[in-house]
Amino acid sequence: MEKILIVGCSKTMDDICIGCSRCLVGFNRKQGAFEAYQGKDVELIGLLGCGDCPGQGVVVRLAQFKLWNAPMEEKPTAIHVAPCIVQHCPHKDTLIKKIEAKAGVPVVEGTHPYLPADIFA
Ligand code: SF4
Repeated sequence: MEKILIVGCSKTMDDICIGCSRCLVGFNRKQGAFEAYQGKDVELIGLLGCGDCPGQGVVVRLAQFKLWNAPMEEKPTAIHVAPCIVQHCPHKDTLIKKIEAKAGVPVVEGTHPYLPADIFA
């Protein structure tokens, strides 16, 4: 069973990308980066904010996630970094390097495929 943790931008989650619904729907439909899980057993076990700018807190946030989920014995088998980081964060290279260095599981750039190409066309 694959267990997915999504890491997103603390400034964007919920207040800008309302309800994080694009990541959730993309996961449920196995679209975008989640296409890789077609035909596989997979669960989403968390949506974690990076810990705010400039991204220094992300490793601590991962450790907090581990502690918080220890009573349920839930751990991710892969981390997906959301488009709010991959496409929009000025600190994304640092963030992704930190996650890759400490996660101990595969780190995938990308989640949902629903970013609009433009606003008014
Ligand atoms: S470090 Fe990047 S991902 Fe985190 S809050 Fe700031 S802009 Fe968002």
